[in-house]
This record gives sequence, C-alpha cells and structure tokens, in this order.
Amino acid sequence: PRASFERQRRQVENGVLEMWFYLRSQLSILQKKNADNEVAADVVKILENGGDHHQTIMKDLKNLTSLSGPTDWQAREAQDLSDIVQRRLKHLQNPADCNTAKKLVCSINKGCGYGCQLHHVVYCFIVAYGSGRTLVLESKGWTYQRSGWEAVFKPVSDTCTNPSGSSRRSWGSPHVIENIQVVELPIVDGMHPRPDYMPQAIPADLAPRLLRLHGHPFAWWVGQFLKYLLRPQPHLQETLDATEKRLHFKNPIVGVHVRRTDKVGTEAAFHGIDEYMRHVEDYYSLLQKTQHVDKKRVYLATDDQNLLEEAKQKYPEYEFVGDSEFSRTAGLSSRYTDSSLLGIILDIHFLSKSNYLVCTFSSQVCRMAYEIMQSLHPDAASWYHSLDDIYYFGGQNAHDQIAIYQHKPRGANEIALEPGDRIGIAGNHWDGYSKGTNRRTGSMGLYPSYKARDEIRVVDFPTYPEAEK
Ligand code: GDP
Repeated sequence: PRASFERQRRQVENGVLEMWFYLRSQLSILQKKNADNEVAADVVKILENGGDHHQTIMKDLKNLTSLSGPTDWQAREAQDLSDIVQRRLKHLQNPADCNTAKKLVCSINKGCGYGCQLHHVVYCFIVAYGSGRTLVLESKGWTYQRSGWEAVFKPVSDTCTNPSGSSRRSWGSPHVIENIQVVELPIVDGMHPRPDYMPQAIPADLAPRLLRLHGHPFAWWVGQFLKYLLRPQPHLQETLDATEKRLHFKNPIVGVHVRRTDKVGTEAAFHGIDEYMRHVEDYYSLLQKTQHVDKKRVYLATDDQNLLEEAKQKYPEYEFVGDSEFSRTAGLSSRYTDSSLLGIILDIHFLSKSNYLVCTFSSQVCRMAYEIMQSLHPDAASWYHSLDDIYYFGGQNAHDQIAIYQHKPRGANEIALEPGDRIGIAGNHWDGYSKGTNRRTGSMGLYPSYKARDEIRVVDFPTYPEAEK
C-alpha cells in the first residue's frame, strides 16, 4: 500500500506541475497577442494569482505526505539501500584473488569533457556489476590529470588494479566472453551486443524498495555508482571543506549551471540568465510559504567567465556564491591543468549539494550534479528544472513512457493515446506537452504530459549474496 500511495502522490504532484506549465505557457501566448490592449494586464494578474494558487497546492501536497505517516522510514530506507549497494561494489572491486578474478578493463580517456568521461566510467561500472567482473580503470595520461585518477579520487579497488590475466579479448556475446578472464569494454556506441541491464534499467532485487522510496530510481542507481567512484582522497576532501568555508556555502541554496562556450549552437541553445532566475524565483517563493528565508542564495557554476558579474549586477537581492576562477579555467580542459580539474570537481560538488537545480539536462555536468544529489537525500527526484532536455543517460536503451489516460488529438500536431500505449518520448516541452512516437500506431507528435508516466525497466542483475557475509 505504501508503494501505491507514493506512486499516486508523485502522479498528483506531477499533474499539478504539468497543469501549471500548460496554463502558464498558454497565458503567456495570450499576453503577447494582446500586448496592445487591456487584456494583457488581466492576463498578468491571472498568471500571478495562478502561480500563487499552484504553489499553495504544492505546499499542501507536501503537508499531506507528512500527515500520511511518519517520514523517518525514508531516511532509514535510503541509508539501508545505499549500504547494500556500496557493500556490493566494494565486494566486486576487491576479489579474493586478483590473479584469477574476471575483469572488465575500461579506459577513462574518451575524447570528451569531464562529465562525459565520468559517465563513460559509470557505464563501465554498471556493465562490470551486471556481468560480475571487477572494474579495472585505466587512467594514466587522463586529459584532466596526467598522473591519473588516484591523484584526486580513491582507487576503484584496493587489491585488484592489475589488468593482466590468462586470456583477454574485447566485449562480445555472453558465450564468447564467458571464459575470458579480461574483457575490454569499448565506448558505449561501439558495444555489441547490448545487455538488458544497460541504462536506464534498475536491478530487480532492489526494485520494489526503490520504487517505493524514490521518484527516479535510475538516477538514484547512477548516484550510487558515483558515490563509490568519487570518494575523495584526503587532500581533495580538505580542499572541498576549505572551499565550502571560503565561499560561505550554506543551505538552502539553489544550484544554477549555465553551459555556454563550445556547447551553444552545436548541442544546445543559448539561454539568458533571466531564464534560469525565473525558476530560482519560483523555488524561493514556494519555500517562503513554509519557512522564513533570510537570504536567497544561488550557487552559480558556468563556463562563461563574465556571467557571475552579470548575475550579481542584475539580481542584487540575491547572494551569488561561486568562484569566477572556476569558470576561467573551464575552457582549459583540452590542455591539462590542475585547476581545470579542480574547478569542475568543485562546481559539480556544490551543485549537487544544493537544494534545487536549475540547468540544462543537455549538459553532462548538470545531469551528473542531479545524479549525485540523489545519493545525498532520500528522494530528490523532483528537485530540478531543466531548461531543455528531459533526463537521459548517454547511450541508453530506448526510453519509453506508458500512457495512463486516453487522449483524442485536439489539433493536427497531436497524437492519439489509449491507456497502456507505449510512447517513445523525444522530450518534454515544459509547456504541458511532450513529444513522442506512439509505438502502437506509429504516429509521432505532441501529447499532454500528464497523460503518461515513465516506464521503469526492471531487469535481473547479479544479486551478490556473498557481499553480505
Ligand atoms: P557537457 O559538454 O556540458 O555535456 O559536459 P562535459 O563535462 O562532457 O564537458 C564540458 C566541460 O566543460 C566540463 O567537463 C568542464 O571541463 C567544462 N565546464 C562546463 N561547465 C562548467 C562549469 O560550470 N564549471 C567548470 N569549472 N567547468 C565547466
């Protein structure tokens, strides 16, 4: 009963949010159309009152959650599930005999940025877990740190880092690699065949508990791999603590990530700072309904050197926390510098420690901060607003939604839905509509976002009973 209650509660929360996206977008269109007459002023009032109404319902919904029973089970359950996964990863990474252990070799040096390379390592680690092989990470000559991974993070294994073995070949079908001791993993685009446990699948043995606890079980799952991987070396921990003090990083705070430079025009659109700040403003006006807010804080991470100054000038009522030094070094990733590595580690760290994220999910930096955030709270699934994409994991298997309500198209660009239809989702337009392909009918177009939910892929992984001994 708890699981279905939680699912229903999340569905209502999402429905209220999507209704507000719909109304806000339609009313803004109406306002623009009537810019030259008095209707525009009326619409502005409706938007204001409607926004307040929306937030009051969101606040009431949160109250309902705490009234429905004690919520301390969530913290305990989150801790317990995390402990199970961390024990398993430790067990997998420290086999009794490294000379005979089955290994999966993965090189960090994919030709891309830090977030992309770390996600590549997460993919390797998921495959290692799914295939019961110890992950051996090759990181010498890493573009962000020539001397390798251990310069900043703890080694992924204490006992087994040697990639040698009696037999070795590249990834292949289960019957081909079954008796091979050392398997090399290509980047995700070159992987054949692709196992069922690839993203965004979650492990069947943990699924019932995860589905009850968390609004985005796969993001939680990735967060656990990152929690293990990103264990800082003592000197990095010291730097994290010292920087927190120096920047006066305090909660509550909203993490804003603005990705510009090489990304704009190639993989993402330009978004002005005001587009981000609108959502920051929404977050704080909701928060102010439940508590006194002494200072509206924003942690601003960006690769645009001039943005921090611009933001401070445009929004004087906010306290901007951030270090323009990090953004100055952001573009230096291709030629190795210590500071560019430290800058991105610190930015992702503080973004993930924020209470809400406003960013673009087209950026791996933003998605990674969101994933790590999930390992720091029982359920922070809804603590974000993405200005562009919905959440995804690079190289993932098909991401489908399941229709929960019937939909009859109201315009030429809309598609029909029957409950149970599977929809390949391309994106949410954050205006009440999502775009996708109905796999039953083959038609592609828009449908109201509230009429579908994510399909969660539950797949058998090894269950590692030995890790509990
Ligand atoms: P994506 O290109 O945004 O999907 O993310 P990647 O992490 O793969 O590559 C972008 C790279 O640009 C990062 O790894 C950083 O080196 C740099 N970068 C981007 N945004 C920031 C930021 O906010 N702060 C810092 N310090 N570096 C950034």
